[in-house]
Amino acid sequence: MNPASTQPRALHYYPPSDRLAAMSDVVLITGGGRGIGAATAVLLAERGYAVCLTYREQQAPAAVVAAQCMAHGVPVRSVRADVCREDDILRAFDAAAELGTLTALVNNAGIVAPQSRVEDVTVNRIRELFAVNVIGAFLCAREAVRGMSTRNGGTGGAIVNISSRAAVLGSPGEYVDYAASKGAIDTLTTGLAREVADEGIRVNAVRPGLIETDIHAAAGEPGRVRRLEGSVPLGRGGRAEEVAAAIAWLLSAEASYVTGAFLDVGGGR
Ligand code: NDP
Repeated sequence: MNPASTQPRALHYYPPSDRLAAMSDVVLITGGGRGIGAATAVLLAERGYAVCLTYREQQAPAAVVAAQCMAHGVPVRSVRADVCREDDILRAFDAAAELGTLTALVNNAGIVAPQSRVEDVTVNRIRELFAVNVIGAFLCAREAVRGMSTRNGGTGGAIVNISSRAAVLGSPGEYVDYAASKGAIDTLTTGLAREVADEGIRVNAVRPGLIETDIHAAAGEPGRVRRLEGSVPLGRGGRAEEVAAAIAWLLSAEASYVTGAFLDVGGGR
């Protein structure tokens, strides 16, 4: 018998979480000023990532998040950048490059529109949803791949796209258009993961369920999570920090053999 096979498995096979990221890791998080993006920024800063976070217009909460990140001793950039605008995206990637070589992208910025049946949606509403949730995510993924791909002389990296359980459930009577935009994110994840798998880049998605953030108020129902939490097998809504933990794991070396995967963070719903 191989003597090694009789050895007990190390209890702590993986390095402690505060040392998961080498000090050289740099992450760009779109929509990092509030909600899931903000929780992700703070967690990754705690784990040693230099953080570039973007926001669309709310500078004050983004500044608070940036300060929380800096308290972990990492360099931080906070950039006003609308993911609907290609020049803004390029500026955000330039700001991230000031921190070092980009190794991670969290494609998080996203919006919903007020609840509506499909028969009532307007063309402007669908255009804006897809401009932010789909085109913005595609352009950010494009910029990340241009910099990270070993095919272009890069050193690789990891991308996490923030999809939604809505992509699977369809959000009938609420926002089927939003759900469809997240369906597009799932397809982006599958296709891009396979496209760049041999170029040093892993691409995965997290599908949050009902998470307590401001996004529900933006859709016209601040109490939406409480209304629906009875339909969640775990019996409650989720917290942004619980989604951030999944994102951080997918970015980390612990997920080194994971690409093209979808991690549902929806309490079973
Ligand atoms: P929030 O509304 O709490 O925060 C959204 C963030 O995205 C803000 O920082 C906002 O900037 C930014 N943002 C919005 N539009 C743009 C834009 N055009 N360009 C750049 N940044 C923008 O949202 P959540 O944290 O709840 O959502 C984050 C992601 O998670 C989204 O993709 C969402 O679809 C997804 N998700 C959320 C769920 C939930 O229940 N909360 C469930 C499933 C998925 P600013 O502060 O300036 O407005």
